[in-house]
Amino acid sequence: MFHRILPVGPLQCNCSILGDEVTRAAMVIDPGDQIEDILEILHEANLELKQIVITHAHIDHVGGAMKLKAATGAPILMNQSDYGLLKMLDMQAAWVGMRPPGNVHIDDDIGDGRLLNLGAIPATVIHTPGHTEGSICLHFPQQNKLIAGDTLFAGSIGRTDLPGGSFEKILRSLYTRVLALPDETQIIPGHGPETTIGKERETNPFLR
Ligand SMILES: [Zn+2]
Repeated sequence: MFHRILPVGPLQCNCSILGDEVTRAAMVIDPGDQIEDILEILHEANLELKQIVITHAHIDHVGGAMKLKAATGAPILMNQSDYGLLKMLDMQAAWVGMRPPGNVHIDDDIGDGRLLNLGAIPATVIHTPGHTEGSICLHFPQQNKLIAGDTLFAGSIGRTDLPGGSFEKILRSLYTRVLALPDETQIIPGHGPETTIGKERETNPFLR
């Protein structure tokens, strides 16, 4: 599987550009910013974008989604529990000093257990409320890979003090869903370096 991680925008959100090297189908997760750079990577890798997946409706993750959709025609997928946060994007933009991206239209609501196909490669949606109510992780079982959004970071977890956040819920999501994955699972957090389930299980102060 093709996988490039591009930290984008002022908050350096980890945008994942994924591709099935057989069918050339691509998926972009969390195109918060730098859409020109994302398009260039897709073009250079000869990939065709089929889906735009948003892990949660914070501006640093969703800010460039409409621009990417306009350039490629790919639908935008997000969990409906974050639709309310999407309506607050202008306020979010002011908080972090980004330009308001305008209205974001979601084409498909992705709930827990939803199976997505990256060409011939399966991926499963895991609903992990806590950082926001509609936060999801995307699991690629064949690759032992989890795109974790802002639910789990190397050595930390997502903040829960923003609207829609819940410390109780993020801990429940982490213990019952994320830590249920095997130790060797590679974690791509929404910000910062990658890690593994085993490493976090052992050393993350929030998970002990
Ligand atoms: Zn966030």
